[in-house]
Amino acid sequence: MTTHLPLGPGAEFDAIRTLLAAWGPRARGIGDDGAVLDVPPGSKLVVSTDTTVEHVHFRREWLTPEEIGWRATMAALSDLAAMAAAPLGVLLALTVPTAWRDALTPIAHGIGEAAAHGDIPIVGGDVTAGDRLALAITVLGHAAHPLARSGARVGDAIYVTGRLGGPGAALGAWLAGRAPTLAHRARFARPEARIAAARWCAQQGATAAIDLSDGLAGDLAHLAAASGVCAEIDLECLPVSEGVTPREALASGEEYELLLTAAALDAPAFSAAQAGLALTAIGRVVPGPAGSVRLLDRGGAVELPSAHDHFAR
Ligand SMILES: [Mg+2]
Repeated sequence: MTTHLPLGPGAEFDAIRTLLAAWGPRARGIGDDGAVLDVPPGSKLVVSTDTTVEHVHFRREWLTPEEIGWRATMAALSDLAAMAAAPLGVLLALTVPTAWRDALTPIAHGIGEAAAHGDIPIVGGDVTAGDRLALAITVLGHAAHPLARSGARVGDAIYVTGRLGGPGAALGAWLAGRAPTLAHRARFARPEARIAAARWCAQQGATAAIDLSDGLAGDLAHLAAASGVCAEIDLECLPVSEGVTPREALASGEEYELLLTAAALDAPAFSAAQAGLALTAIGRVVPGPAGSVRLLDRGGAVELPSAHDHFAR
C-alpha cells in the first residue's frame, strides 16, 4: 500500500513526483521528515551506505539509465548480503545534472526493479542538482546474528559464490575500445546482491563473509586481516566466467559475489536452494601471519596479482 504524504510545489518536488511515479508501491511512506521502520524484536539493525559516481564507477556510454539505477542499488544491497541481513528499507540521495534530467524516470525504474528483486521498500531520499550523476544509497537491514568479516578461524574452508571475472573483463574491453561479450557486460551491468545466499550460509554455520567489491585477492586480504588469520587459496579451484583466466578473476572488482568461510558448507544443497548458483570451495584458513593471503598454483606458492582499482581514481 502506498501511504505518501501530499507533496508541495517546486522543481525538487517535481523530481520526487517523477521518482514516485516510477516506483509505485515499491516506495513507502515518503514525504515526512524521516522514515519510521519496525525492527523485529531480538534483531540488530544493520546499516550500510554506498555511492556510485559517473566517470568513477561507470561511463554514460557503457550502461543504460535503467542499468545505472539497478547496479547502484545492487551494489548497496550487496553490503547487506555480506552481513547476512534481511532487507528493511533503502534511502537514496541522487545528484542529477541537467544533462541527465530526462533520464530520471528510467534510472528510477532501474532502482525500483532492483529494490523489488531484493524485496526492499524505498523509504526515503533526496534529489539535488549537481555537476555529475551520483547515487548515494543507504540500505537498512536486520539480523539476529549479523555475519562479520572477523569470524574466520584456522581450519575453516573458504568459499565463493558464482563465477568470477566477468565485470573485470567487461571493464577491460571498454577501456581498450572494444565491446565486451554480452555475458561479461551483463555481469557488470546487472549484478545481483546475494542476500538469500548469504542468509542460507549463515544458517548453515558460516563464520565470516565479505562481498567482492575490490576483487577476490583484495577482499580476502580484508577478511583475513579482520579475522587475524592467514588465507590460502588454490588458483586452479577458482570458478571463472567463460574467457577469463583465474589470475584475471582474482583481480576483477565489483563482482558482488560473496566470499565466505565456514567449517564446511554443502555446495550441492546450496545450489539447489539458490536457483543453481554455484558455491565453490577455493581454499582454507591456515596458521600464518594475520591478514596474509597465500596463492597456490597446483600446490606451489605463486605471487598474487595487484588488487582491482576503479578505472578513473
Ligand atoms: Mg562490501
